[in-house]
Amino acid sequence: MRIVVVGGVAGGMSCAARARRLAEDAEIIVLERGEYVSYANCGLPYYVGGEITDRDALLLHTPKTLARILDLDVRTEHEAIGIDPAARTVQVRTPDGEETITYDELVLAPGAKTFIPSIPGIDDPRVHALRTVPDADALQELVGDARSAVVIGAGFIGLETVEALTNRGIAVRIVELSDHILPPLDADLAHYLRAELVNRGVEVHEGTEVKAIHPKDDCVLVEVDDGQRYPADLVVVSTGVTPDGALAADAGLELGVRGSIRVDSTGRTSDEHIWAVGDVVEQVFAVTGEPQPVPLAGLANRDGRRVADAIFGRAVERRPVLSTAIVRVFGMTAAATGPTQAHLKAAGIDYFAVKLHPGHHAGYYPGARPLHLTVNFGTDGRVLSAQAVGAEGVDKRIDVLATAIRAGMDADDIAELELAYAPPFGSAKDPVNMAGMIAQNALGGLLPLWQAEEYDPAADVLWLDCRSTREFARGHVPGSINIPHTQIRDRLDELREAAAGRPIKTYCATGFRGYLVTRILTQQGEDVAHLSGGLETFVAARPDVELES
Ligand code: FAD
Repeated sequence: MRIVVVGGVAGGMSCAARARRLAEDAEIIVLERGEYVSYANCGLPYYVGGEITDRDALLLHTPKTLARILDLDVRTEHEAIGIDPAARTVQVRTPDGEETITYDELVLAPGAKTFIPSIPGIDDPRVHALRTVPDADALQELVGDARSAVVIGAGFIGLETVEALTNRGIAVRIVELSDHILPPLDADLAHYLRAELVNRGVEVHEGTEVKAIHPKDDCVLVEVDDGQRYPADLVVVSTGVTPDGALAADAGLELGVRGSIRVDSTGRTSDEHIWAVGDVVEQVFAVTGEPQPVPLAGLANRDGRRVADAIFGRAVERRPVLSTAIVRVFGMTAAATGPTQAHLKAAGIDYFAVKLHPGHHAGYYPGARPLHLTVNFGTDGRVLSAQAVGAEGVDKRIDVLATAIRAGMDADDIAELELAYAPPFGSAKDPVNMAGMIAQNALGGLLPLWQAEEYDPAADVLWLDCRSTREFARGHVPGSINIPHTQIRDRLDELREAAAGRPIKTYCATGFRGYLVTRILTQQGEDVAHLSGGLETFVAARPDVELES
C-alpha cells in the first residue's frame, strides 16, 4: 500500500510514524512544502524569547533521521498543488518541476494559515507572523536591534509572543480588538492576566482596532481606531488562524465551517481514500455539539495516530473536543477546558457558574498563591467547562476538570474526587472538590447563587456586605448595607427592617463569610442569594461599577 501524507509537522508526521509502526511493508511518502518537517512550532515563542537557546532543539527530525528510524520517504520543498480523487493522484510542485504521484490512501495535514487582516501597510518587512521556523528566524534577526514592538492580537500565541519580546528587553504594546485580552477566557479572569502584563511594563489596549501601519525610515507607526499612532521597530500579527482547506476544496471534498475539511468519526473525508487530520479538520465541540476547527497540537497528534489506525482497519472513534488550552503569561498561567459561557449561552444550554479563589495549596503552608477558578455546571449538576488563572496549580486543576468533563462527572463526583494531598501540593479539600461542594450546595438549595453580571443598582433588592466594617469602609458594592458575618444573628431585626420584604443578595471578599450568612438567613426563611466569587470576582467582572467608600 502507498500512503501519501500532505504536510509534515504535527498531524501529518504522527500519522506517517504510526502507519509505519502498523505496517512495515507500506510505502509512506510525506510531502512538505517548507524546508523543515516535524518541528516544534509550539516552542517557537520560547526560542524567540531566548528561553530555548538551541535552534536545533526545535527541529525534532530531518528527512534523513525519519528515513533511518522509520523508513519514511520525506520530501521537503514538495508542495501538493492538486488532487484527482478519481485517479487517486496528487500533483506536486518540486524544486525540479511538477510531478504526479499515485496513492492508495491520501492523508491531508496542511494545517492552518495565519489570518492576516487586510490593513494598509501590513506587508511592511517589519511586520511578521510567528508560525514557522523561518518566521522565528526572521523575528530573531529583528529583535536584536528592536527597542519597541506592537503585537496585534492577544490570543494564546500573541500573549506568548508578548512575553518573549519583553524578555528580550523590548517595550511591547499589545492591541486587541475584543473587549479583553485572551478572548476565550471570561472577562473576570482575563483581568488577572492584564494586571500581570501591566506589572511587567506591557501597554495593553483592549477593544482597539489597528487601522493602518505607516512605514517610516526608522520604524513603523501603528495607527489604531482612536487615531493614536504607536511607533514600533517590529510588529507581530497574531490575529488567529484559518484552516488551509484549499486543496480539499479544489478536489471537491466536503468542507465544514470556516473552510475546514469535514470528516467522519474516523477522520475519513467525503472521499473513501482521503483522510484529514489536525488544524484543517472540522472538530465537534463536546457539550454544545458545535462544529469548529480547533488548532491545537494535541488534537493534531491524536488525529494523525487515529487516522493511521483507521487506514489499517483499527478504527477508534474520535471524541468530541473540549479545546483544553493553557498559556503562561510571565508569572501567571491561564487555562480553560470546555465551552465558554458565551458558547453555552449561544447553544441554549442552561448553566450556572461557581467562582472561587482558594489558595493553590493549604494556606498555612508557606507560599500559597490564589487560584481563580470558574467551573460551569449544568442545571443537572454535570460539569460543563472550567477556566482558571493563577501563579501556581492552574494546569493540574484544569486537567482534572477536563478529565471530569470527558467522564461525564457531576458536582457530586468532583466533590468526592480523591486528589493527591499534602500541604505543599494542595488542600484536604482541593479547589476542584470545593467547586463541587459549592455546586452541591447551590443545586440542593442550601446556597442560592447570584452572579456579578446580574448586579443592577436599580434592582429592588437589599445588597448585604458581610465583611468587617473596616473592609466595608474601604470600598463596597454601591447601595449595600454592612452587617459583619459575626453579628448577623444579633441584628436580624435590623436586617429585616432594611430589607423591607425585598430579596437579600449577600457578598463578602471571596465567598466564605457570605456563605455562612446565607445559610443563617436561609434557615430564617429569608429570600437570599450569595455572590459567586465574592467581591474579588465582582471587581474583576464589573469594571463599569465604581465601588462606594
Ligand atoms: P501544522 O503543524 O501547521 O503542519 C502543516 C504543514 O503542512 C506545514 O508545515 C505546511 O507547510 C504543510 N503544508 C501545507 N500545505 C501543504 C501542501 N499543499 N503541500 C505540502 N505541504 C503543505 N498548540 C498547542 O496545543 N499548544 C501550544 O502551546 C501551541 N503553541 C503554538 C505556538 C505557535 C507559534 C504555533 C504556530 C502553533 C502553536 N500551537 C500550539 C498549535 C499547533 O502547533 C498546531 O495545532 C499543530 O501544529 C497543527 O498540526 P497540523 O499538522 O494540523 O499543522
